[in-house]
Amino acid sequence: MLEPLIYELSSPGRQGAILPESDVPPSPLPAELLRQSLPLPEVSQVDVTRHFTRLSQLNMSVDTTLYPLGSCTMKYNPRVNEDMARLPGFTMLHPLQDPVTTQGALYLMYQLQSFLAEIGGFSAVSLQPAAGAQGELTGILIIRAYHHDRGDRRRVKMLIPDSAHGTNPASSAMAGLQVVEIRSDVRGNIDVNDLKAHLDNTVCGLMITNPNTLGMFDEHLEEVVCQVHEAGGLVYGDGANMNALLGIAKPGEIGFDVMHYNLHKTFSTPHGGGGPGAGPVAVTRRLEDFLPGPIVRIQPGSDKPVQTDGVEETPEPYYEWYMPRKSIGRMRAFWGNFGMLVRAYTYIRVHGEQGLRNVSQNAVLNANYIQARIKHVYPVPQGERFCMHEFVAQGKLPGAPEVRALDISKRLMDYHFHPPTNYFPLIVPEALMIEPTETESMQTLDQFVDALLAIAEEAKRQPELVKGAPHNAPLSRLDEVRAARELVLCCRLEPVI
Ligand SMILES: *Cc1c(COP(=O)(O)O)cnc(C)c1O
Repeated sequence: MLEPLIYELSSPGRQGAILPESDVPPSPLPAELLRQSLPLPEVSQVDVTRHFTRLSQLNMSVDTTLYPLGSCTMKYNPRVNEDMARLPGFTMLHPLQDPVTTQGALYLMYQLQSFLAEIGGFSAVSLQPAAGAQGELTGILIIRAYHHDRGDRRRVKMLIPDSAHGTNPASSAMAGLQVVEIRSDVRGNIDVNDLKAHLDNTVCGLMITNPNTLGMFDEHLEEVVCQVHEAGGLVYGDGANMNALLGIAKPGEIGFDVMHYNLHKTFSTPHGGGGPGAGPVAVTRRLEDFLPGPIVRIQPGSDKPVQTDGVEETPEPYYEWYMPRKSIGRMRAFWGNFGMLVRAYTYIRVHGEQGLRNVSQNAVLNANYIQARIKHVYPVPQGERFCMHEFVAQGKLPGAPEVRALDISKRLMDYHFHPPTNYFPLIVPEALMIEPTETESMQTLDQFVDALLAIAEEAKRQPELVKGAPHNAPLSRLDEVRAARELVLCCRLEPVI
């Protein structure tokens, strides 16, 4: 049954709130701005509360269930992040305020830049990009600007492994580059011979996700990076999978030149639903001048010790905005998605160095636990290797030829679990990409595994049950492609008044 719209609950004369008497004199407004009737729903407070609470429960969310959506890192969003982001000192800021009055906010952003640089082994960070994909575009524009700055305009090709996220080729194409696909080998690594065959002086760079979207740490990473550099290209790291590496490996030290972070994945800021994300970009020293700005820095000289009456004092540093010398420009208005930066900063401060390492260790442990428990039932193409923070199984069960990955995912919803990522990466047929994250307990992982194993049995004995799933959801199977392509977000109902 479809939920009623709030207009359909309307009943003349019902009221949900009483407005206080106006304490300012009424102001005359131009007649053309006024209308006689304003068709709003007339509902009581309890109608509204129940209506929206019910709506909020129609979708599965990370607050109600395990959300093992591979590559998306749907970890729990700690409430302390929300508390910090709601502090009035942050929420009441105006982006055009004089920086003299916003030193606290600039300090926070400066610190976050430094933390992210340290975590990834890079030398500078811009917090501008608003999402991972925008971070990719930013990084590629930086690489292109670097080559152009050296007077080299031949480099028009971006090499991208066939396991890459779809945003990688899309971002490269948006930056005006030709996309060249590089094969993966049987162990899920980049095929080094195929890479070598494509390296020449027209290569702008390689985009690499490590661990890749199969959940594998590339076994030839150093050689791959070295080969690309020898050919004069730069290496772009898609940092969406940093949840496997915190405190363990630094991409900047492995030789990556640029990388974006997804604060809404690794650093626990809320994710999805069209809300704001953040995709800061980190670079090594030779690319610093090309970063998009403005970036926060300590005003040169402002923290130099001063002598007052023979006593040396070190003043508080003064934080200021600056635009790097050869900057590619701005990627968005103002200073980035500031509320997300506060949440990510909080997350990093709460965890500290050892805490972040524990995050990655537990993320990897949890993924391996599930892989080990299901791989005798669900084929796992790279199952002979340990995975990193995620792994890819196949929804192709021996003895259940009719049942597909999508059916298994839909049936999981009847067991109250959000489905894993389906049909991605593209190189694995019937892919079920599972990423539990570190925030799940062993009990939850066991319940999830038990559900997967029960569904595998059902698939053999009662395939129709699985193929008809979900049976408990408010709506059954949707035309997902159409829902994404022709998204309707506003209610255009004729008012019922
Ligand atoms: C999520 C993801 C992206 C894109 O990030 P958005 O913030 O969704 O734009 C890119 N690459 C990989 C591997 C990802 O998982």
